[in-house]
Amino acid sequence: MAWVKFFRKPGGKLANSYQAGSMLSLAPTKGLLNEPGQNSCFLNSAVQVLWQLDIFRRSLRQLPGHYCLGESCIFCALKVIFSQFQHSRERALPSDNLRLALAETFKDEQRFQLGFMDDAAECFENILQQIHLHIVPEEKEKDSCTSRSCITHQKFAMTLYEQSVCRSCGASSDPHPFTELVHYVSITALCQQVYQRRDESFGELLQAASTIGDLRNCPSNCGQRIKIRRVLMNSPQIVTIGFVWDSDQSDLTEEVIRSLGSNLNLSGLFYRVTDEQAKRGELLLVAMICYSSRHYCSFAFHTKSSKWVFFDDATVKEVRGIKKIP
Ligand SMILES: [Zn+2]
Ligand SMILES: [Zn+2]
Ligand SMILES: [Zn+2]
Repeated sequence: MAWVKFFRKPGGKLANSYQAGSMLSLAPTKGLLNEPGQNSCFLNSAVQVLWQLDIFRRSLRQLPGHYCLGESCIFCALKVIFSQFQHSRERALPSDNLRLALAETFKDEQRFQLGFMDDAAECFENILQQIHLHIVPEEKEKDSCTSRSCITHQKFAMTLYEQSVCRSCGASSDPHPFTELVHYVSITALCQQVYQRRDESFGELLQAASTIGDLRNCPSNCGQRIKIRRVLMNSPQIVTIGFVWDSDQSDLTEEVIRSLGSNLNLSGLFYRVTDEQAKRGELLLVAMICYSSRHYCSFAFHTKSSKWVFFDDATVKEVRGIKKIP
């Protein structure tokens, strides 16, 4: 799931920015092919979300160059698909070249190999990490990338540190800095928190779910078990939350859908937020990748038409008449 930061203009409404009939101004939507045996739905879902994220699409277009890996270049393969999304007359396009580049890049790790099903969230995250390497290959230390042209770290990365502070004796651990491209939350923990925190915001709910089971020993060993505090230090424009399910078939699906919020405040998601912009900003849900019956599909919010679009490989449909689960 991706939330994108969207600042409303005073008095402005998102729906008003779209004028009926101006179809030419829409970012084009096309399907991505998935022939029998290809098992490319995980990749297709990740690519559709990346394409529909305005910030990502525009930033990628504006990048002047990259360190190319030729045949196995994920960056080039993604650019080709994006250009076909824009210019092709076909309703559905092959994603084979990107699939091949992904398989070649992760050959040694035996991940994302041709014909095998894989994880869409990890695919999304790894494409972003590869883009970082194509822009700043000298910066192997991903956690400290400060390159202004790196889309991955400038737009998606959450720069965090975690620390545990003991309420009982006051001792605190050394702050541990790290970056995250996807913030993972356990579904089981989320559903447990929903019962206890009916009045809290979606962000606070996620924070509670991601810290609740994560107790550490007091740094001075006074005997207390304490919660970890995560502090956000930057203001990411796109925030991705990955929900971790305990099993393929879960009876928590309806409950999860019911607890999903369409707005997210970063101040709720983390113990503390230091960046002023991040404190004020509110993020809106703009995309989702879903998994069911060994198959991935995705939903994305089409900014210009203010409509949700459903992507299932070659099939693209506008979502109409969303019913709220009571
Ligand atoms: Zn290239
Ligand atoms: Zn980077
Ligand atoms: Zn203590």
